[in-house]
Amino acid sequence: MHIASTIQLQSRLPEVGTTIFTVMSALANEHHAVNLGQGFPDFAGDPLLPEAVHQAMVHGHNQYPPMAGVLKLREAIASKTQQLYGHAYDPGNEVTVTAGATQALLTAVLALTQAGDDVMLLEPCYDSYLPSVQMAGCQAVRVPLNPLTFRPDFDLIKASITPRTRLLIINTPHNPSGICWTAEEMNELAAILRNTGIVLLSDEVYEHMVYDGQVHQSVVRHPELRERSLVVSSFGKTFHVTGWKVGYVLGPSALMGEFRKVHQFNVFTVNTPMQMGLSQYLQDPTPYLQLPDFYAQKRDHFREGLRALPFELLPCEGTYFQCVRYKSLEWPNAPRHDAEFCTWLTREVGVAAIPMSAFYAQPIESQVIRFCFAKKQETMNDALVRLQRYSAQM
Ligand code: PMP
Ligand code: GLN
Repeated sequence: MHIASTIQLQSRLPEVGTTIFTVMSALANEHHAVNLGQGFPDFAGDPLLPEAVHQAMVHGHNQYPPMAGVLKLREAIASKTQQLYGHAYDPGNEVTVTAGATQALLTAVLALTQAGDDVMLLEPCYDSYLPSVQMAGCQAVRVPLNPLTFRPDFDLIKASITPRTRLLIINTPHNPSGICWTAEEMNELAAILRNTGIVLLSDEVYEHMVYDGQVHQSVVRHPELRERSLVVSSFGKTFHVTGWKVGYVLGPSALMGEFRKVHQFNVFTVNTPMQMGLSQYLQDPTPYLQLPDFYAQKRDHFREGLRALPFELLPCEGTYFQCVRYKSLEWPNAPRHDAEFCTWLTREVGVAAIPMSAFYAQPIESQVIRFCFAKKQETMNDALVRLQRYSAQM
């Protein structure tokens, strides 16, 4: 459709197209490929949770909740956080319920920065960070994680701080690499931020997917860091309901006060029955305490199958993502670059994945792709059989 010739559209995000997750899911559907690209479970969660939401609707919890979220839910979040990470946020003014983590991240960036500030991102990173920074009128300072290990390089982080740096966004467990930051790394970060005015925005949506006895190093555990941080999580990940789009933010009241000023004009609040249902469901910690074992089994099964293929398996310490490196020599018919490799893999082999390069703002030379293993065993097996069958004919 045409628009009036008097309108001169200026894009707020001129370089942005459709997200890689949407593109790869559409391609997977088109080619009837097994979709291990976009991160979402293909299995149902606990039926008790939708039942609790249903009961909330039936019992009339259908009008606006308080702007910061249903109090019972904020209390449940504060109590869970205290039990897990040892710090009691005040549900009154230090916890806010959001429409998922993506909204929380954008709202936080808008609330904590002024146009022209520098915001530091550690690449590769989740694809909403850079557009959020750009929409706030800020300058993104993109600092690479170690390109082989994806661990933070603190010398580089320190050297990249400018007088205008206002915010640093971190993510652990990390999408896409599956790396989890250690306590020592959190200490190193604290040392760098000490005596600066930099606020930390910590994306911890995969907080309950940490494996092999490792402990999630939430910023909340670290007294010095949490004083300068907003921490983001998402029930979509924790309870297998990515489509519900309910998450939350934790932070000291001064930061949260600014967050809420923007939040109230961004979404104002989040749907009531979901919040009521979640507040009840959270009374029992078993579902999220079982998550590491539940997903570690899936990870191990998937890795076992991948070992028969010409892939180098990268470590998966957390998240529901498994990254692999391929060598072009071992995939003679496949394109060299990871983005084309993923398109080819979807079309020719019938398995969709996400290229590592999609998590960088500028083109990079990459032979790493990301698979999501939040899938039923039969889905993983279907993908593994397709890959094994193809590689046997190569
Ligand atoms: N951060 C990271 C690292 C993610 O992987 C995701 C997944 N979509 C999000 C944020 C967004 O979460 P939500 O679906 O709750 O908006
Ligand atoms: N977080 C999910 C992933 O990394 C996708 C979310 C989305 O589709 N925007 O795959």
